[in-house]
Amino acid sequence: MKTNSFNIQNLVRDNVRKLKPYSSARDEFKDFDKDMIFLDANENPFNNGVNRYPDPRQLNLKAVLAKQKGVGIDNILLGNGSDEVLDLIYRTFCEPKIDNILTLPPTYGMYKVLAETNDIENREVLLNKDFQPDPEKILSSADDYSKLLFICSPNNPTGNAFYPELIEELIKSFNGIVVIDEAYIDFSSQKSWLSRLNEFPNLIVIQTLSKAYGMAGIRLGICYASSEIISILNKIKPPYNVNSLTQQKALERVLNTKEIDKEIETILKERDNLMENLEKISFVSEIYPTDANFVLIRVDDATKRYNQLIEKGIVIRNRTTQPLCENTLRFTVGTPKENAKLIKILKEI
Ligand SMILES: *Cc1c(COP(=O)(O)O)cnc(C)c1O
Repeated sequence: MKTNSFNIQNLVRDNVRKLKPYSSARDEFKDFDKDMIFLDANENPFNNGVNRYPDPRQLNLKAVLAKQKGVGIDNILLGNGSDEVLDLIYRTFCEPKIDNILTLPPTYGMYKVLAETNDIENREVLLNKDFQPDPEKILSSADDYSKLLFICSPNNPTGNAFYPELIEELIKSFNGIVVIDEAYIDFSSQKSWLSRLNEFPNLIVIQTLSKAYGMAGIRLGICYASSEIISILNKIKPPYNVNSLTQQKALERVLNTKEIDKEIETILKERDNLMENLEKISFVSEIYPTDANFVLIRVDDATKRYNQLIEKGIVIRNRTTQPLCENTLRFTVGTPKENAKLIKILKEI
């Protein structure tokens, strides 16, 4: 159990705790931009829409997100995709060659890649057969150098959300930071952990515009945490990590909640329809429950079926080499037309 002596500063790497962040001169003048002449950043002065550096704090976008999600602006950090956010978290808390992280395969591949690029030991604790985490096993794999625990819920590639009781037990008992990756939360019947951010000083929640929000191309990842954690991450964030076009596009999109909700509704309806149809395919032996916009299934021979679909012009994901995922395939839910074509081809092969 976390005691009152829990102190986030003790988890931060020495060099990060000590460093003084880069500051751009523009920061101080944001609020009286009326008649200011900016000759501070060596930009080309001729306006073409993007000749100026972007707002390093992305305040307009954060203000909307804060309001929608019921958190403070100082509880948000934005990144060039979740991938950048995740990398910042590693570099803030994990001392290369000394600290370690815990991941729960089968899960999102980037956690492992980032551990390798940052030279951090990755302790893998497999999920159970039903793709749920086993807190006892996980906690017994941790030691004093275990800084981060990655929980992907709903989980990629299995699709299921983890039981909230198990997640809560892990947040309360793990002596490092628990990162909950909610890339697929908008497709889930379960609640986001954002509403409980205030309860847990060691909780980071990550979301993205890449999935339900339909903006994978602009690269925007969102990190929610205590203002203390956010201010530490901000110290090592590249100042202009989210470009102007991304900030603009993201702002337009997050304000258009009606359109997003409509698309999610369609995707969920299509997902149900796809699962119903998959049940009728002879070589499909198992369809796993999903809280995401994709479905994991088990088949007779994943590689053979994968190649047959490629031949017909449909690209899916073969997950057979992942632990616990032998002979599984992952299908993203497409448009109604795409899904109909997929089903037709599956019936033919
Ligand atoms: C797709 C996905 C992301 C999104 O990453 P971005 O860099 O924001 O596009 C994050 N986590 C998981 C588990 C995902 O599947």
